[in-house]
Amino acid sequence: MATSKNTEQAHCLRCGRRLFSTSSIASGYGRSCRAKVNAASTAADLTDFKPAQVDSARELIEDGAIVPLRGQVFAAVSSDGNETYLSHPTNCNCPGGLKGRRCYHQAAARLLIAA
Ligand SMILES: [Zn+2]
Ligand SMILES: [Zn+2]
Repeated sequence: MATSKNTEQAHCLRCGRRLFSTSSIASGYGRSCRAKVNAASTAADLTDFKPAQVDSARELIEDGAIVPLRGQVFAAVSSDGNETYLSHPTNCNCPGGLKGRRCYHQAAARLLIAA
């Protein structure tokens, strides 16, 4: 479990390496990990998600609002910032996910795994 003290140190959301450059800290990823995430976000197969969901998934990643927990499980912050969901490429415990719907958290998890 990585509980980072954001004020002093920033670590890459993908590999956990410490970040030093302000642009890396702002994006939440080191330069090479950011490139991999960007590549995955165009290469991953997300055809079973709606375009708006894919956009939301990319935004979630851009904002650093989804972080790996263990294996293929991610913690995703809800759009209002009040909740954190456990998201996996094929399931999620957000309100939509619990009803068996595909949500953009799942799309984001899939993108990050593809990175
Ligand atoms: Zn990294
Ligand atoms: Zn969800």
